[in-house]
Parts: sequence; structure tokens; C-alpha cells
Amino acid sequence: MCCHDLHSHSTASDGALEPAQLIARAREAGVDVLALTDHDTLDGYAAAAYAAAGGPLRLVAGVEVSVTWNNITIHVLGLNVDPHCPVLLQGLDGLLAFRDWRAAEIARKLAAAGIGGALEGAAHYRRGRILSRTHFAHYLVEAGRAPSVRDVFKRYLVQGKPGYVRGEWASLETALGWILAAGGLPVIAHPARYRLTRGKLARLIGEFREAGGAGIEVVSGSHSLDETLHMAAVSREHGLLASAGSDYHGPHNPWVELGRLRDLPAGCTPVWAAPGWSLAA
Ligand code: AMP
Ligand code: MN
Ligand code: MN
Ligand code: MN
Repeated sequence: MCCHDLHSHSTASDGALEPAQLIARAREAGVDVLALTDHDTLDGYAAAAYAAAGGPLRLVAGVEVSVTWNNITIHVLGLNVDPHCPVLLQGLDGLLAFRDWRAAEIARKLAAAGIGGALEGAAHYRRGRILSRTHFAHYLVEAGRAPSVRDVFKRYLVQGKPGYVRGEWASLETALGWILAAGGLPVIAHPARYRLTRGKLARLIGEFREAGGAGIEVVSGSHSLDETLHMAAVSREHGLLASAGSDYHGPHNPWVELGRLRDLPAGCTPVWAAPGWSLAA
């Protein structure tokens, strides 16, 4: 049985490790198949593919697309995408433009709350084109505004807090259009994290399937055992393929490690059993 970890981040978005370092760590952790799924970018893929060449680890080209659905932010993974697909790349560039606009807004709001220099401060932590709330969080910790990244989010960066700016990401249909154009398999990331009611989750899945969605992340570094079992039942009930990924962001989150994942619960059909998967991966 080989170990699949189909959700991870590098410095191309808000991860701590360079793509090549991520591949090295995944090998050490015994991962057989790793998907690099940076937020809204494929910029890390080439370096990761170079590092993975020669095996034995197999690299899956992926992306974690930010989506606005019903006024909330949902993350949709595209697995096994063509990393050169112009439709996908142009779509993601649009999200980058929103990120840059949002970053300036966040900084403006923080300045109004008495915290200056946040745009430059956050940019100092960015290693690629993506400017994420995580980068703001690092700056705010450095500036002594909160003891940890987690606390920064709670105090400054979530809804109702001084540095919050509403997401205006891709619609579900648009994001799935990009992923499908790139030949990828769309997967709803960490579904338990959105705290949706049963009815709302069913609605999300209905619209996701209608737009060509195929899978749901059942095993996730951010799911408890109960949440995993619940999402396993949801995947079976709705006939969705089941995915597994750590959502690794780096060694600073010691509770999430590459490849350290529960097995998929019984009765789930893994995404890697999908027709065409092994040809692509
Ligand atoms: P963004 O896509 O720029 O809005 O940033 C979202 C990222 O921030 C997520 O992918 C997480 O890595 C991180 N994040 C979100 N909420 C939290 C939280 N409460 N604590 C720590 N990191 C968080
Ligand atoms: Mn992240
Ligand atoms: Mn996510
Ligand atoms: Mn992620």
C-alpha cells in the first residue's frame, strides 16, 4: 500500500519550505505520491518536478484554488492538472491580482487601527508571487501584536476583526472550469473546516457535482477522527471520490507532518483509483 499525501504547500504560496526542500522532506517521511497544492499558483511546480525527477517519489501537479461560495471562502484542490494550461494559469493570475488589491486593503485597515507598515512587513515574508494572510500574520507576530500566528488570525485577520477584508475569489463554476480545462480532478479541500450545516454542505456538493466536481478530502491534517468519519460517510452518500492530504505548511506546525495521515475509512473510493489517475500521476 503506497502512501499518498495529496495536499501540501511550498514557499510559492504560504509554506515554509522551498519546493525542493518539500520533496526531500516528503521522501524522508516515506511519502510515495505527493501533490504540491499551493494556494492559487503553480509557480512551485517546476522546481518540485526537478527535485522529484529520478524518483522514487511521484509528484502530482496540483493547486488549491480560493473560491467564494455563498459569501464564504471555500478551497478547491485541482489534482493532476496540466501545469501549463493557459486557461488555468490566466484564471489564477486573476486571483493574484485580487490578492494584491486585498493586501493593500488589509494594510490600510490595519493602519487605521494603529498598525503601520503592514504591507511592507508582510511582503518581507513573501517568497513568491502570492501574498497571503499568513505573511501578514508573521509580520504582526514580529511586530509584537500577538504571540503566535494563530492568535494574530483570531485578533486581526478574521471576520469582525480590524484587518479583515472579504474574499472575492473565483466562483465555484469558474474555478472548476479552470481545473477541468487543465485536465485536473476537482476536490473539495478540508470540508469540515467550513462548519457548514448538513443542508448547506449538501448544497455545496450538489453545485460542485453539477460543475464537474469529483472528489472530497476525507482525510486531512485539519480533520479530527470524527470529522474524517463524517466526511467518509458524506463521500459515500454523494458518490464522491475520497482524497487524503496533510495540508502541510512547514516544520513550524509540528502537529501536521507530511505523509502522517490516517487511512481512508472503509468503503471510500480513493481519488487515486479514478480512471486515468495513474497515467497522469
Ligand atoms: P489567504 O488565502 O491569504 O486568505 O490565507 C489563508 C491561509 O491562512 C490558510 O491557507 C492558512 O494557511 C492560514 N490560516 C487561515 N486561518 C488560520 C488560523 N486561524 N490560524 C493559522 N493559520 C490560518
Ligand atoms: Mn495556507
Ligand atoms: Mn485550505
Ligand atoms: Mn492548503
